[in-house]
Amino acid sequence: MTASHDRKGADVIVVGGGVTGLSTAWWLARAGVDVMVVEKGIVGWGASGRNGGGATHHQSPLFAEEQRLWPLMDELLGYPTEYQPKRVRMALSDAQMDEFRIGVDNTRGQGFPAEWLDAAQVREMVPLAGDNVRGGVYYERGGHANPQRTVQAYAWALQDLGGRILQHTAVTGFERRGDKVVAVETSAGSFSCNTLVLAAGPQTGILTALLDSEVPVTPARAEMIVTEPLPLMPIGGVDGNHLYGRQTLRGNLAYGGGPHEWLRPQDDGVAAQPSSPLARNVAKRLVELFPKAAHIRVIRSWAGVIENTPDGRPVIDRLPTAGNVVAATMSSVGFGLSPATGRAICQLVLDGRCDFADLSSFRLSRFGNLSPDWREERGWLPPQTDDDDARAA
Ligand SMILES: Cc1cc2nc3c(=O)[nH]c(=O)nc-3n(C[C@H](O)[C@H](O)[C@H](O)COP(=O)(O)OP(=O)(O)OC[C@H]3O[C@@H](n4cnc5c(N)ncnc54)[C@H](O)[C@@H]3O)c2cc1C
Repeated sequence: MTASHDRKGADVIVVGGGVTGLSTAWWLARAGVDVMVVEKGIVGWGASGRNGGGATHHQSPLFAEEQRLWPLMDELLGYPTEYQPKRVRMALSDAQMDEFRIGVDNTRGQGFPAEWLDAAQVREMVPLAGDNVRGGVYYERGGHANPQRTVQAYAWALQDLGGRILQHTAVTGFERRGDKVVAVETSAGSFSCNTLVLAAGPQTGILTALLDSEVPVTPARAEMIVTEPLPLMPIGGVDGNHLYGRQTLRGNLAYGGGPHEWLRPQDDGVAAQPSSPLARNVAKRLVELFPKAAHIRVIRSWAGVIENTPDGRPVIDRLPTAGNVVAATMSSVGFGLSPATGRAICQLVLDGRCDFADLSSFRLSRFGNLSPDWREERGWLPPQTDDDDARAA
């Protein structure tokens, strides 16, 4: 790959300073590529800095690489991510136990251990569990990290390698020559590139539409709450009762999880504000999960916007309409997979293929027969507002 002669551009431009874009840029910089991240806000302002920190994605073809890389990341990056291994999934009913079966099968099928636990074993591993626990699963691999520390670690590590990060700079368009993008138009001017990676989370589809390719992705709002600190449990990565999250190294319980509030694709910033009904719902289920923490106060809450594809699987693929553009949007599993996705996208950019995982299930061609009304068909539409009614009138 030739180096860019124009310092206003870069060999590879990555749009989006979330974990997907930053990890990709960092892997590229490690390979000696001149790379620049363009972010419309600040790094990690999207879901990447606001998530549950879970890194246990047995359903993904990138699971083995996720599990291999996380224990190495602090050393590779040179900055702390607060990664902690191990995960316990707790069930409060037979139905919740059944939901774990697929994860156990997937994990064991890929050669990793997963151990069924009875109620007494769960209570032994999770001091905050109560009499309502039915059982659970222990994953020796898997784990969690601190999203904000991780974003920062990627960004600093990238800059240490000479990579550039342009914050407060929105990408607004592209200059094309033939089937290639040769420059990115932004609020701070035009930047030339040889290759472009679009990792704009829920906004990825809006950008690819400017290049005549559809990446079907739609945003939803989710919320997290954080409690006062409690004594550290032996394993911080405990979830269940349809909640995700972790106990932080300072002892706080940081949890979130459904229900999704669907948004319009163009909504993001304003939508990322917490609302009391959703936070209350998370708190109620957290008390059910950890009855012994019922007395603890919630000290913080926030909202984040999750990207969702129609089948819940990521998209990592070259655009059919622009040969030097890779689109990457993770469909709600992007934090934990980020060490692996960044490496995979880096290989896609440099070699045209990933040599450590089969990414065929992430291709765009799987949406070839997708109905134009896919959001309506799934009920993934935001409620009508007074503004919408006024616009329609
Ligand atoms: C509450 C919550 C809990 C979650 N829990 C987990 C979990 O436990 N484990 C897990 O793996 N995943 C979890 N996720 C999902 C995970 O956070 C996301 O999948 C992941 O962060 C996506 O990263 P990304 O870099 O692809 O996108 P984002 O983090 O959305 O980053 C995209 C970036 O692109 C920027 N951008 C958009 N448009 C433009 C433009 N035109 N110009 C310049 N920049 C632009 C945005 O500002 C943003 O910073 C959770 C998400 C939320 C909200």
